[in-house]
Amino acid sequence: MTALLEMTGLTVGYGAAPVLHEVDLSVREGRIVTVLGANGAGKTTLLRAVSGLLHQSAGKITFDGVDLRTVKVERLVRHGIAHVPEGRGVVTELTVDENLRLGGLWRKPRPDLGEIYELFPPLANRRNHLGHQLSGGERQMLAIGRALAAKPRLLLLDEPSLGLAPKITAQIMGLLRDLRDRTGLAVLLVEQNVRSALSVADEGVVLNLGRVVTRQKADTLADDADLRHAYLGF
Ligand code: ATP
Repeated sequence: MTALLEMTGLTVGYGAAPVLHEVDLSVREGRIVTVLGANGAGKTTLLRAVSGLLHQSAGKITFDGVDLRTVKVERLVRHGIAHVPEGRGVVTELTVDENLRLGGLWRKPRPDLGEIYELFPPLANRRNHLGHQLSGGERQMLAIGRALAAKPRLLLLDEPSLGLAPKITAQIMGLLRDLRDRTGLAVLLVEQNVRSALSVADEGVVLNLGRVVTRQKADTLADDADLRHAYLGF
């Protein structure tokens, strides 16, 4: 089976000096791949590169066989890629309902928001609340819900656990697992919370100073103390 997302030899940065060096990484349909590594390792940069926000100096990214350099950033979502950036990106002046409709704006027929509310019951009770009236956990749910309203095949998720209570983080991870199993959604998940990420992911990729230092099954990374110690520092 070929990968849905495939990066080969990707070298990318913000200016002259690259942040990522010759990164190879792939994500198949129905798989959750988590990108781990210390602060500054290049995890967020990797998601931005997929979203077409950075200039690639070498290498290639393909999605469903299409070279992403040929796709305009504003059309990525139509191709099936949705990005939930760190800090969540909810429009705080709009209601929950409006934020979700925004996510599915280009979809015809318009997405059934009922499905999103089923996934996130707390949002259903707050559909007329403004973004800024929500708790951190609710905002994260809304950001993910808005991305899902676009019916993506690949979800790019940056630090969904940031600032959330462990119970809420566990709920969000459980939801990702459920979506993967039910819909075949592929997820590229960046996380500082290594244990949570490995609990849900199929595979873990560890970045160090912009290079992939290892790629392992998530269970292997979680269970092997030597690997954890060598690559994840605990
Ligand atoms: P963190 O967990 O701290 O977000 P990260 O692994 O996501 O870390 P990145 O945010 O991808 O790391 O940053 C990787 C490198 O790129 C860092 O050296 C950082 O200083 C640099 N960098 C990040 N954003 C920019 C930017 N907008 N302009 C220039 N350099 C940047």
